[in-house]
Amino acid sequence: MHDKIVLITGGSRGIGAAIAELAAAQGYAVCFSYKSNRAAADAVVARITQAGGQALAVAADVAVEADILRLFATCEQEFGVPTALVNNAGILEQQMRVEQMDVTRMQRIFATNIIGSFVCAREAVRRMSTRHGGKGGAIVNISSIAAKGGGPGEYVDYAASKGAIDTLTIGLAKEVALEGIRVNAVRPGVVYTEIHASGGEPGRVDRVKVNVPMQRGGQPEEIAEAVLWLLSDKASYVTGTFIDVTGGR
Ligand code: NAP
Repeated sequence: MHDKIVLITGGSRGIGAAIAELAAAQGYAVCFSYKSNRAAADAVVARITQAGGQALAVAADVAVEADILRLFATCEQEFGVPTALVNNAGILEQQMRVEQMDVTRMQRIFATNIIGSFVCAREAVRRMSTRHGGKGGAIVNISSIAAKGGGPGEYVDYAASKGAIDTLTIGLAKEVALEGIRVNAVRPGVVYTEIHASGGEPGRVDRVKVNVPMQRGGQPEEIAEAVLWLLSDKASYVTGTFIDVTGGR
């Protein structure tokens, strides 16, 4: 059995992949989900395995409750009960104003970003909480600095979903503080990943980096460092709070 087991949603690409690789390098057995990009998921598993780590990729859509239940069950069968959860999977869609958004888009964003994180958190608490006989654990939610800025003209729906993640972090942290579980969030700024192409602007980071005090975009590995610290025992007195990894924005 493994001492440290992390379940990461959306680990096949971008920030989630960087978290998976750093976690494996720090001795975690890594179980991560992806939605559909099997080739990318297999490549992350191969990199971790070649480096001497352990990883398992599970196709599971966080917007589908049955998929999340299967993800947790698979992780338990393969490695054991997770000691850490990273709610990383998140989506945004084509940049537009609120008056242009249809309800199906809003439902997709909120189902994936909000309900997906809530259900994963619920499943983690059911297994980790000392109230339910668990051994405790740590949860890190990947929010966004957009929760503060609001995403005007681009994706207020996405930004609002991250606002909900911030409130989930605060409320759940207090709810389980006496049950061995710490809950924190990382709010990335603009990071070089493929998510920006989903909004219709693959080069967005380079456009907006002039507004970043450090005048550059972030790398996924820089987000992963904050996540792994929050998951670690070094953050033993840290709960219900946020690390903004934004280059000063
Ligand atoms: P990304 O490069 O687009 O990667 C998204 C990952 O999530 C992929 O592994 C994808 O799987 C997976 N995914 C998407 N929808 C999913 C679903 N319904 N169920 C399960 N997995 C799903 O995104 P990223 O930029 O790394 O973003 C990761 C997190 O950081 C998100 O929560 C995002 O909001 C947040 N964030 C990003 C930035 C930024 O500038 N990049 C800034 C602030 C916050 P497939 O490979 O199968 O598609």
